[in-house]
Amino acid sequence: MTSQKLFSSKLLCWHNNENKRILPWKKETDPYKIWLSEILLQQTRAAQAIPYYLNFINNYPTIFDLAKANDDDVFRLWQGLGYYNRCKNMLWTARFICTHNKGQFPTKHEDILALKGVGTYTAAAIASFAFGLPYAVVDGNVTRVLARYFGISESISTTLGKKSFAELAQKLLPKKSADYNQAIMDFGAEICTPSAPKCASCPFQIECVAFQTKTINLLPVKAKNKVRKTRYFHFVILKNEEGKIWLQERTSKDIWPHLFVPFLLETQELLTSSELSKSIPLSKRKTLNLKFIGSEKQLLTHQQIISHFFELNFKNQLTLPPDGIWVKKEKLRNYPFPKTIISFFEKSLYF
Ligand code: SF4
Repeated sequence: MTSQKLFSSKLLCWHNNENKRILPWKKETDPYKIWLSEILLQQTRAAQAIPYYLNFINNYPTIFDLAKANDDDVFRLWQGLGYYNRCKNMLWTARFICTHNKGQFPTKHEDILALKGVGTYTAAAIASFAFGLPYAVVDGNVTRVLARYFGISESISTTLGKKSFAELAQKLLPKKSADYNQAIMDFGAEICTPSAPKCASCPFQIECVAFQTKTINLLPVKAKNKVRKTRYFHFVILKNEEGKIWLQERTSKDIWPHLFVPFLLETQELLTSSELSKSIPLSKRKTLNLKFIGSEKQLLTHQQIISHFFELNFKNQLTLPPDGIWVKKEKLRNYPFPKTIISFFEKSLYF
């Protein structure tokens, strides 16, 4: 038996006899539910995605239910997961499938891959889990297992490296593609973990190059992470005489599309209350009495957002954009917000 065949058959054996990982979407064959779980799992750990998945399935049991849902309701359900473009694409795709394909999920790999928000990994997962098609999934768990078992020192971050890991993963794929794909992802998540892998109980110990050559901590090889850009957001929580709070929906191509935020001024550096007062264009002959009330930091893949929050009793001191809305404090929970705002609202008892 070649080392590649040995790997696949031992992995399936582990999956059938020892794999205890429980996930609500496992063994699911409904393409809608598989697609939903895979969209949620993009950039999100399984443990975090589970309650969201159950909530979505509960609220929208079929693709038709999701397609006809109200945008704000769906974004609110997504709240806290970040990467809101995923949610936007998910809604778009549900509506596209219902309008153009009578709610039938595409069954061919190329048609699945053509859906908005579906990349190579997600298409392979849907194709194999829903339709048993022979496409290997390649995610962080898979590349880690392969790099260690086969002792591959090629970087998993380069285009060339990604290509060769994808080719190897495809070569290893046996006929039972769904079982194998599930097995290798579970194995990476449970046994061959990024730190402290469970080598002592691993069925691959004898053949694993990394274990035999004591290079586990060196594999997989990754290119250095890019430096995150820092952005400074100043949120002014405007309260009017009725105690309502001013919010604006973000519509640009920037982060947090479709989410609501208080009045925002972004600057190149952090400003004090008096510096901020001078930077906000004011209505004639008015002054701003801004009160600093807290701060938050949020890390995104390529950016870190430092947010400072200020409060202001609004008496027409500044000219507001026309698309804003005034919302009662007790109704704030009806709107979808970025994680930073939720965290701040919770700490400051706005929620
Ligand atoms: Fe991973 Fe250790 Fe098993 Fe090698 S022996 S595959 S490093 S868990």
